[in-house]
Amino acid sequence: MTWTLECSACVPTRTRDADGFPGVCDVCGAPYLVRYDTLPPPEAKVHLRARRWTMWRYDGWLPLAANEQPITLGEGGTPLLKIERLAARQGFDDLWVKDESPNPTGSFKARGLAAAVTRAVFAGAKQFVVPTAGNAGVALAAYAARAGADARVYAPATTPRTILEQIRAFGADLVLLDGHIGDCGIAARLHADNTGAIDVSTLREPYRIEGKKTLGLELAEQFGWQLPDAIIYPTGGGTGLIGMWKAFQELRQAGWLRGPLPRMYTVQASGCAPVVQAFESGAERVESWPDPQTVAAGLRVPGPLGDRLMLRALRESGGGAIAVSDEALVGAARELQIGEGIDASPEGGAALAGAVALQRRGALRADERVVVFNTGAGWLYRT
Ligand SMILES: *Cc1c(COP(=O)(O)O)cnc(C)c1O
Repeated sequence: MTWTLECSACVPTRTRDADGFPGVCDVCGAPYLVRYDTLPPPEAKVHLRARRWTMWRYDGWLPLAANEQPITLGEGGTPLLKIERLAARQGFDDLWVKDESPNPTGSFKARGLAAAVTRAVFAGAKQFVVPTAGNAGVALAAYAARAGADARVYAPATTPRTILEQIRAFGADLVLLDGHIGDCGIAARLHADNTGAIDVSTLREPYRIEGKKTLGLELAEQFGWQLPDAIIYPTGGGTGLIGMWKAFQELRQAGWLRGPLPRMYTVQASGCAPVVQAFESGAERVESWPDPQTVAAGLRVPGPLGDRLMLRALRESGGGAIAVSDEALVGAARELQIGEGIDASPEGGAALAGAVALQRRGALRADERVVVFNTGAGWLYRT
């Protein structure tokens, strides 16, 4: 594969090559996105049949150089489950859960970190650093271990205990801070500047998005290359949302899809809903949310760097944004556990609670095909 990196904000579009350790745009500080010189033709679908069900089955869509081997723990290939009983209770005819909890390290963060660590190690990285609300730290710790590299993780002291134990279990150097992921980000950048460690923060390098893109590729394949009407995504930094929207554009451009693209919906917790607020006010950027509070640790991101890209995806797709209370998201996670046997994280619960609220509001029709994302495993949040 060959590709260039394109600034997501500069006009006219600014590009750079993929050598070394690309961060954000040197001119404006916005994220770079990968633009491939060629995409696989539709005839390549048949070759997928013989491939293993990990995210690397889509290597034709991923940033791998000719002689580059993925750093992998078998991420991707997760179940897409129809939930009929719970759907009937909530008035949906065609409701699905894309269950990311079986991923290595228990969340979909595995996809992004597998891609980012693969690229950086190929370029010679030996040390990594990440700020995290929890699961990105677990994933970095595991993939760094897999690569024989070192990891430093900055996390809020309020992060669920089991998640912190997992970060330590994979041998990372864990530093706890008072504050939220934004405060951890400042410490991580300082550490990167002082030591040369590679900072794999959300959208501060261009490859986590490419790993997350496989959520969209996989969903398309699992539904026979016809996408659902709506996708309900619990949103923190927004990599999944931005990545899936990028996947759908690329699939469409390459002629792989039947039918239209889905409407994309963001769900956030009412104690930290900067994207919902910006969407509703018609803004292009988010205003940082003061004093972010929610038990859904992955959604506790008060000032995401990918705000522009997220808001663009929501609007271009004709979707929207909604906030749900902690009580509602915890209740919905329990419904998925008890009613369907799916080990939903609070963030996955938020997606379901958001779907129900969007339907009440008239944004989703009962007969539409709707997919909610359970982004991580409930057991990580148990104390
Ligand atoms: C990180 C995380 C999120 C938020 O994902 P983004 O792609 O950063 O918006 C949601 N759920 C879980 C379980 C997470 O770990």
